[in-house]
Amino acid sequence: MASTLMASCSSIFGAKNKSSFASCFSPSIRAHSFRKHALNKVLAVMAPARSPRSPSSTGSVKHAMTMTEKILARASEKSHLEPGENIWVNVDVLMTHDVCGPGTIGIFKKEFGQNAKVWDREKIVIIPDHYIFTSDERANRNVDILRDFCLEQNIKYFYDIKDLGDFKANPDYKGVCHIALAQEGHCRPGEVLLGTDSHTCNAGAFGQFATGIGNTDAGFVMGTGKLLLKVPPTLRFILDGEMPKYLLAKDLILQIIGEITVAGATYKSMEFVGSTIERLSMEERMTLCNMVVEAGGKNGVVPADETTFKYLEDKTSKNFEPVYSDDNARFIQEYRIDVSKLEPLVAKPHSPDNRALARECKDVKIDRVYIGSCTGGKKEDFFAAAKVFLASGKKVKVPTFLVPATQKVWMDIYGLPVPGSGGKTCSQIFEEAGCDVPASPNCGACLGGPRDTYARMNEPQVCVSTTNRNFPGRMGHKEGQIYLASPYTAAASALTGYVADPRDFLL
Ligand code: SF4
Repeated sequence: MASTLMASCSSIFGAKNKSSFASCFSPSIRAHSFRKHALNKVLAVMAPARSPRSPSSTGSVKHAMTMTEKILARASEKSHLEPGENIWVNVDVLMTHDVCGPGTIGIFKKEFGQNAKVWDREKIVIIPDHYIFTSDERANRNVDILRDFCLEQNIKYFYDIKDLGDFKANPDYKGVCHIALAQEGHCRPGEVLLGTDSHTCNAGAFGQFATGIGNTDAGFVMGTGKLLLKVPPTLRFILDGEMPKYLLAKDLILQIIGEITVAGATYKSMEFVGSTIERLSMEERMTLCNMVVEAGGKNGVVPADETTFKYLEDKTSKNFEPVYSDDNARFIQEYRIDVSKLEPLVAKPHSPDNRALARECKDVKIDRVYIGSCTGGKKEDFFAAAKVFLASGKKVKVPTFLVPATQKVWMDIYGLPVPGSGGKTCSQIFEEAGCDVPASPNCGACLGGPRDTYARMNEPQVCVSTTNRNFPGRMGHKEGQIYLASPYTAAASALTGYVADPRDFLL
């Protein structure tokens, strides 16, 4: 059985250059017998050995389940369920934004009636964030539609923006939905959060089930608070080892996606455990979970622990109940990664699984650097970039665009001192390095947007970006080339004008 598993894993890895990466990434091989009730293609593997302080297990029980299965079991009022089952789930939070919100509202009204009321005005969160700072009339109209609907339905959580000339004049305005959800206390362990955006999986960092849905499903949830979901089987990623100081969570997820490919987790849950994960901050856990959809994952999930609870302390007063995978829960596959052996990575154009070592791309001349988005525009992402600029004492060689994810991130960039800088803020360090002034918080050029979007690639240029997708046209021009990278690697690249390895500045 073990050799069968190894063989199937090898075929997954065969399409990529194995030599650079194989030593730090190996699938678990301790397979044991199939159980009667297992799915035909689901392979049962033994639960991994855990360190005593791991919070990721509740121990052995009769009907063992993974975290994701447990969350969905509770949300569907079942004591036990199996991967592949279709279940009706009670939704805790539904999020929509200015791109998909109008369509969702249209479906809700068409199916439930023009005068229908949403199922729960306090469980719907509406966040304008995508096409905000633009003169595009259709984009502006989308925000107007959201505003009218929220007024009509008395939606409690609507993070509105009216004055586009000065985002700071809009205290309710937050910015990029996934980071705003976390900062405003809408992400809670054990809950189900659905959103009309594929990177809703970001919230799995809190130990909850979070996934993106389409407008039709969202319209149904808006009216009923329920959705029919198929229970995904779970892949488990065990990351151990000391994280080198030149790596960030972005490197970890690029490593994983490069290994399993963009289809490697299709309709599967990706559970992240291990000593390295336990040491990651909440923002870094978000970076990890944010990109599971780039491997086709249904959701990503990190067990809630003290780090989670501390982050939530001043953000929510609601009760929540974390759940953890049982000792003998069934994972269809396990992957072990020795993080201490990893090197800084990039994903080359035009796919997030087109992995390469940053040092192998040093001859790639670039035109610009973009630091922003839900994946790479959080406070810690900017602090990481500032650390590289500070260490170098040099100026950037290409235009370097900075787009904070939210208003809170923007304030932190301007207000918080960077450790080891003698009291300088990120904004001061960025100015000294010659970067562009940090822009108004929103999705920005992460997905192109209207032509007047700040930092949009309107020419066929080469960009190193901390965002999550590098498909053709993603940031504007269809012939643009995007290298996905961590904030460390992005900042190092800005300083050299080529794809760079941050070790050149951080060691
Ligand atoms: S920042 Fe980019 S990936 Fe994130 S929600 Fe906005 S458009 Fe999507």
